[in-house]
Amino acid sequence: MGLAKKAEEAAVEEVEEAEEANEAKEAKEREERMRRLEERVKACKKCELWSQRRNAVVGEGSLLADVMFVGEAPGYYEDLKGRPFVGKAGKVLDELLASVHLERKDVYICNVLKCRPPKNRDPKPEEIESCTPFLDEQIEIIQPKVIATLGNYSLQYIFSKFNMKSEKISKIHGRIFTVETLNGTHKIIPLYHPAVAIYNSAMREVLFEDFKVLPKLLSEQHNKRERG
Ligand code: URA
Ligand code: SF4
Repeated sequence: MGLAKKAEEAAVEEVEEAEEANEAKEAKEREERMRRLEERVKACKKCELWSQRRNAVVGEGSLLADVMFVGEAPGYYEDLKGRPFVGKAGKVLDELLASVHLERKDVYICNVLKCRPPKNRDPKPEEIESCTPFLDEQIEIIQPKVIATLGNYSLQYIFSKFNMKSEKISKIHGRIFTVETLNGTHKIIPLYHPAVAIYNSAMREVLFEDFKVLPKLLSEQHNKRERG
């Protein structure tokens, strides 16, 4: 191998090592910020939902993830275990992820509300207002390239947060929306809530079809990064 070639390879290696070190440092910083956020959520009494929770459900997954899924609120099993999407809807979500070759550890999963509403009733406006500063912080920490909303409450909150015109999910599911923020660009994909697929095979098909936009988007993001 020629000297020039060797030098080039050494330079590439150096850049790669620096990138890895940077990523490790970024991961550490994000872990620390998320740990502090989790402490605040677990102690939170900003709305009445705190009084009946067994566990707050902050979220889980990679803090370096390109894609963040935002559901509605913990249900029975999520409250019991302190983890998002571990009941029937969670099983559907796992299947959806697998269908596009993603695993939980590759993405970040959280909800609009961190505590379970009694009997899984709908979130109240004042609960959403009290709780969403936590979600805002999670978005700030992770800076996801793609935000996939699961269900109507998540869609309405994320659209209003980014000053987007509210739309019916039946009209815009599976479409890609782009928002520019000070933290860069987010792509937003409105998806139906996985719970709709539990007893409805037509909706299940729609969800699986809509999920196919994810790998397309993620490989676009990846290529953009490779090109610099
Ligand atoms: N439904 C949600 O919206 N979130 C969960 O975590 C579980 C079920
Ligand atoms: Fe606090 Fe959110 Fe739980 Fe309400 S739902 S108590 S705002 S963490």
